[in-house]
Amino acid sequence: MVHGGEQFTQSCLIDARALAAIRATVPLAPLHNPQNLLGIETALALFPDLPQVAVFDTAFHQSMPEHAYRYAIPERFYREHGVRRYGFHGTSHRYVGQRAAELTGLEVGDSCWLTAHLGNGCSTCAIVDGQSRDTSMGLTPLEGLAMGTRSGDVDPNLHSHLARVLGWSLKEIDHLLNSESGLLGLSGLSNDMRSLEQARARGHRQATLAIEVFCYRLAKSLAALSCALPRLDGVIFTGGIGENSPLVRAKSVAHLGLLGLAIDNTANARCVGGVSGAINAPGHPRLLVIPTNEEKQIALDTLALLDSPAPDKDSPCRPS
Ligand code: AMP
Repeated sequence: MVHGGEQFTQSCLIDARALAAIRATVPLAPLHNPQNLLGIETALALFPDLPQVAVFDTAFHQSMPEHAYRYAIPERFYREHGVRRYGFHGTSHRYVGQRAAELTGLEVGDSCWLTAHLGNGCSTCAIVDGQSRDTSMGLTPLEGLAMGTRSGDVDPNLHSHLARVLGWSLKEIDHLLNSESGLLGLSGLSNDMRSLEQARARGHRQATLAIEVFCYRLAKSLAALSCALPRLDGVIFTGGIGENSPLVRAKSVAHLGLLGLAIDNTANARCVGGVSGAINAPGHPRLLVIPTNEEKQIALDTLALLDSPAPDKDSPCRPS
């Protein structure tokens, strides 16, 4: 499930209560949650005795403190309409945070990471002792980093500016920011980082700029999220771009000298195509490439839930 609202702080077995709570989140994700619900309801009709588990992209981030998840707008929009930062990609951030602890011999419960999930959608996360403390996405997955086709952060007044200057509707502005912006919008070429890297090598000016903006914004986001950490045990790159683009990793780390980060070019070049490892220069904070595996995390949550005792009657979900 994309959105679990504030109801779901972890994965859960689907029963009537959970289904009702999931239905209540539809206004928060009107495009995605109805599709997810359709799958659940169809499977329920076809296999009524088969247990189903819901894993939420938002759940991991429910541990964010209020000063990280509230917008600076009047409280009633939060209380009455659920307007707050939720964050997404939680399954991926959680998985790579745990893997980083395993790979480095640190305890998940005593480790501090900045994670960068860079796929078609992109987000960063600050993880302290196994819990999300802040993340770059917000009420929707549009906030934060520049992405394949999403703009990420823009001045919130851009909406009224475009409406005033061009007479555009909300639907048109929505489409511009979600589907025609980001790497695609800046480059005028593609939302695929591979194509942009090839075009950059041929001297394509806009593809070059798209990569520069992408990397600078990523670095800015990581630096901002460092505010949520008491110390830094490492920065983790994951997702299609994070796992496969030495160029993006090198360019973003180059902006983060003030955090003491420095890259080892040989190790950076080696970590592609599913190869994990450390890519920091010796004596500098850890930089790790860790392939994400959301499917495995979902399977692990499912196994844990199938083995767990009956749910607390007051909770729509069982702990995973
Ligand atoms: P994902 O959503 O995690 O599958 O990631 C998709 C993104 O990963 C796309 O922008 C791809 O261009 C990017 N990607 C995949 N392989 C590579 C690669 N070898 N070099 C650069 N980007 C890549």
